[in-house]
Amino acid sequence: MNATRRAVLAAIPAAFAAPRIARAQGAAGRVVIIGGGFGGASAARFARDRFPALDVTLIEQSRTFTTCPYGNLVLAGRRSIESITFTYDRLAARGVRVIHQRAEAIDHAARRVRLADGSAVPYDRLIVSPGIDLRWGAIEGYDEAASARMPHGWAPYVQPITVLERQLRAMPEGGTFVMAIPDNPFRCPPGPYERISMVAEYFKRHKPRAKIIALDAKNGFSKQPLFQEAWEALYPGMIEWRGASNDGRVVRVDPAAMECITEFGDRVRGDVVNVIPPQSAGRIAREAGLANQSGWCPIKPATFESAQVPGIWVIGDATIAAPMPKSGFAASSHAKHAVACIAADLAGRPPPPAVFFNTCYSHVGEDYGISIVGVFRGGDRLVEVEGSGGISPRDAQLPPDRRAEFRRLESLYADGWYEAITGEMFG
Ligand SMILES: Cc1cc2nc3c(=O)[nH]c(=O)nc-3n(C[C@H](O)[C@H](O)[C@H](O)COP(=O)(O)OP(=O)(O)OC[C@H]3O[C@@H](n4cnc5c(N)ncnc54)[C@H](O)[C@@H]3O)c2cc1C
Repeated sequence: MNATRRAVLAAIPAAFAAPRIARAQGAAGRVVIIGGGFGGASAARFARDRFPALDVTLIEQSRTFTTCPYGNLVLAGRRSIESITFTYDRLAARGVRVIHQRAEAIDHAARRVRLADGSAVPYDRLIVSPGIDLRWGAIEGYDEAASARMPHGWAPYVQPITVLERQLRAMPEGGTFVMAIPDNPFRCPPGPYERISMVAEYFKRHKPRAKIIALDAKNGFSKQPLFQEAWEALYPGMIEWRGASNDGRVVRVDPAAMECITEFGDRVRGDVVNVIPPQSAGRIAREAGLANQSGWCPIKPATFESAQVPGIWVIGDATIAAPMPKSGFAASSHAKHAVACIAADLAGRPPPPAVFFNTCYSHVGEDYGISIVGVFRGGDRLVEVEGSGGISPRDAQLPPDRRAEFRRLESLYADGWYEAITGEMFG
């Protein structure tokens, strides 16, 4: 690992607390947050802890939050669904007003959020972090009904990961698991490949003759050489990955036949079929005029205030924030900056400097983790800081006697990251 990457990794636990703002700076006002996931729950907690004069309300449709991170470990049989599910009780005990309802509409002119029961929540500043919607029909035949037979497991508030888990457990030995992976941009760029790895780990233990066919709408993917190197070493002969130029793009599904149909007409049948469809920003953001034609929300990179509607900050997966990936870590980093900018705005001060962090860890096998790290700055554009971060070394870059220990440590860092970030949201 190069020195810069090592320094960034070492600095990141402390960076969870960024930006550095003294407590109690006196900014008062009503801050309302829609969505209690990685972006929204992090924003609520940060606002509560750092700016006690703010009145903080969190609107979340569900009573519990199941994280997508570590969902793939449920498929591997390493984690229970309970261990990745959290309540909002502690946030409420810290003084966040938590409303468990669906936000139906945003009235920007009147600065009010309308809830499912018809009541309205007034705000001075609004943060919107609704995550993603799945674009039903973007793959022909793939709608909500089809997803019961061919689960996505990509948005727990739409479908729990346990639907896919049950199908994998029931799959006959020697069966085939087919996965359809979308083009960019989508939630969690390394997520599908971690999922392939975790399903392979489960198969290796319980159904060693099973096969995995991954049909990808892209020609390359995050941490590809690292994943493929590990797949060859850990799961030889089990995984076939087909990119777009090898007819990997799925354009239609036939749930009755359990088939994915590719661009050039190949029909690929699976005993279990996991379709990850194309996505957009969550509906509330699109209907409030926060998204552009792409279906995602443009933001001002210096503050994460909406580029389309003043007085509303959009954070997390719903945003157009490349080169930052759509990750939980990124959403949490956006959240803290947005809260700090809102506090500054309410106090009539300029926004703090925009610095963001991301690390995406992936579990590839037992005691085998890899990661990608980045530091970003927001100004006129969002840019990755040159020389910051990087990805884990390939095997050839590590001394042979240190490889296993290096991969083991990265899987431990991943566990540490998960405990830290969920503790920060719900602890
Ligand atoms: C398999 C998988 C693995 C992943 N692994 C990682 C990882 O290891 N590391 C990482 O950093 N990221 C990971 N991610 C990505 C991460 O889950 C997302 O980037 C993150 O959840 C985005 O945060 P968010 O706040 O934008 O959305 P979410 O966390 O999805 O939160 C959105 C919340 O808004 C609520 N909501 C939506 N609309 C409304 C409404 N109208 N009214 C009220 N509530 C509403 C939803 O119920 C939900 O609770 C993974 C994703 C997947 C699918």
